[in-house]
Amino acid sequence: MNKKHLNIAIDGPSGAGKSTLAKAIAKKMNISYVDTGAIYRTVGYAARREGIEPTDRAAVCALLPRISVEARFEDGAQYMYLDGENLGERIREHEISHYASAVSAIPEVRQFLFDMQRSIAAQNSVVMDGRDIGTVILPNADVKIFLVATAHDRAERRYKELLERGQSAVFEKILADIEERDARDSNRDVAPLKPAEDAVLLDNSGFTPDESLEAVLKILDEKLNLGGNDEE
Ligand code: C5P
Repeated sequence: MNKKHLNIAIDGPSGAGKSTLAKAIAKKMNISYVDTGAIYRTVGYAARREGIEPTDRAAVCALLPRISVEARFEDGAQYMYLDGENLGERIREHEISHYASAVSAIPEVRQFLFDMQRSIAAQNSVVMDGRDIGTVILPNADVKIFLVATAHDRAERRYKELLERGQSAVFEKILADIEERDARDSNRDVAPLKPAEDAVLLDNSGFTPDESLEAVLKILDEKLNLGGNDEE
């Protein structure tokens, strides 16, 4: 092996449980978890801050050279900085999901964030989650997992998550938003959400978080041969 760092890519639609799983894997394998959705959320946040319609390509493109977006990793956690300010949980607001999804369909935004994501993975062993990690950002990742679950299952999980965070939520609205984001993420021209040819597909509909983790660890075991068995 001539590659120094281990790169694991986890892609899939919103609410499939990518971040929970990726965090658990990172902890277990003592590597960094990189949340690329948070990076797009930061650009979405910047657009909202400036009163820019996130689907307005020209306005968003004009914004890019004026902002600085940085991911910092401290004690195993990722913090997003916009113009030197730590945005903390502000990027998690429900409205920012819509902004992130809309700006992420703009090719110049993806280009703007490309090097940053690549270099994090080149310099660290990571489990990185997103939509195009296995297809675009890390086409040579050691393991690629594409996680899916029904829209209903995913909406239910997101709904519970928001309530746990003390945010108000209406289930039907969450489901409609998830379906809208699915459609936009899958149908955009640039880096659409789709599994890499060499990704392992995992449908975790109806799984508990523990069952999902068990299934993912099994895939990693097989792909990375962690158990030490030497089957070809
Ligand atoms: O993962 P999360 O829901 O936080 O991502 C927010 C939005 O950012 C997604 O709806 C998606 O449109 C976009 N995104 C993306 N590519 C990634 C990660 C996120 O387009 N690698």
